[in-house]
Amino acid sequence: MTPQPHPEVGAAVKAADRAHVFHSWSAQELIDPLAVAGAEGSYFWDYDGNRYLDFTSGLVYTNIGYQHPKVVAAIQEQAAKMTTFAPAFAIEARSEAARLIAERTPGDLDKIFFTNAGADAVEHAVRMARLHTGRAKVLSAYRSYHGGTQQAVNLTGDPRRWASDSASAGVVHFWAPFLYRSRFYAETEEQETARALEHLETTIAFEGPATVAAIVLETIPGTAGIMVPPPGYLAGVREICDKYGIVFVLDEVMAGFGRTGEWFAADLFDVTPDLMTFAKGVNSGYVPLGGVAISQRIADTFGKRPYPGGLTYSGHPLACAAAVATIEVMAEEGVVDHAKHLGTAVLEPALRELAERHPSVGEVRGVGMFWALELVKNKETREPLVPYNATGEANAPMAAFAAAAKKQGLWPFVNMNRTHVVPPCNVGEAELKEGLAALDSALGVADEYT
Ligand code: PMP
Repeated sequence: MTPQPHPEVGAAVKAADRAHVFHSWSAQELIDPLAVAGAEGSYFWDYDGNRYLDFTSGLVYTNIGYQHPKVVAAIQEQAAKMTTFAPAFAIEARSEAARLIAERTPGDLDKIFFTNAGADAVEHAVRMARLHTGRAKVLSAYRSYHGGTQQAVNLTGDPRRWASDSASAGVVHFWAPFLYRSRFYAETEEQETARALEHLETTIAFEGPATVAAIVLETIPGTAGIMVPPPGYLAGVREICDKYGIVFVLDEVMAGFGRTGEWFAADLFDVTPDLMTFAKGVNSGYVPLGGVAISQRIADTFGKRPYPGGLTYSGHPLACAAAVATIEVMAEEGVVDHAKHLGTAVLEPALRELAERHPSVGEVRGVGMFWALELVKNKETREPLVPYNATGEANAPMAAFAAAAKKQGLWPFVNMNRTHVVPPCNVGEAELKEGLAALDSALGVADEYT
């Protein structure tokens, strides 16, 4: 699985990268990206012959691992048959992908609008909600991540802009539940749920219910810390949306397609939103693809009236062929149940055991193949191991933790004072245990900073 080292090739790749690639979310002079030579299954390797177990699934998207042969073959077959075709036409790969997705989304989310990724899916969901309600404001949680674009249509000069001119105004943030660091002085999940719902409804009252188009929430906030909402919260948000005629948007870009041990995280809570965004796991990220699953009620808004939005590559045949193959692989190989079973039987107990032994682990939370360890200086005070958004020296403990993990052949997901354990949903039990042993050893380094 690991090819021979080629350090001279790696050096050339890195030199060209350093000279010409402008990297996302980074201070360009302060980064040192690893040159990656290849990847397969749950592993990737560099040009020096170092192999890493990927506990990050890329950016939490390779839900069936790297280079799955069936998906690679499907992309090759589609490329030979029809590499591309414009979105206004009915194309086999596109209609089949939409059918397979719609069959799995909750409730009546049966119409699929395809995008290129997660951020544009969120943008379109917001636009649909605004046009459906005729209202402008959108409520979202402080602890959330919904994408890196900036409602690009506002910059557009032609009349396609008109429907969305208000798009950058009117975003209002609120606090979603998070018991470990409760904003509501709650001590139980019941209190957290009740008070978070009361806070949301009060926010709506002060904003003016007739001005609120949508509430956008990640079903389980991912990047911000994998905070599984307490029982009753999402059902409560559903009720609030119904009461005020607000569109409920669940963002499943990260939590969807098997990550939580269900096809969608919404299945865990038995809620159906009006719009649901997806991307990442839909085709394991092999070709960029995202989308919005749309309820019939909102689709009907655009029955006789055109939907003012679209993308050149919407439902790109290569991306859709990859989605069809990925969903078939997940169904045939039982990947969703595997993630659920391994999460419950192996990952959760192992992480809880690590939390008991390591003074640096303040909380373990998650479900399926979607877990976070919150690292703290002190378990009693819950002071984070590094300050919020720490960089440079202030971030030394997390940097030391990550370096220790990599030395053990584990590539960890690190964000602020957290490490997320998000391996591919089809990771093998032995691979998982190998990663957990490396994690155990790296947490020993984090312990030194407590
Ligand atoms: N929503 C959520 C919940 C996400 O996790 C992400 C990406 N991490 C996005 C939206 C944006 O997706 P993309 O980077 O594909 O635009």
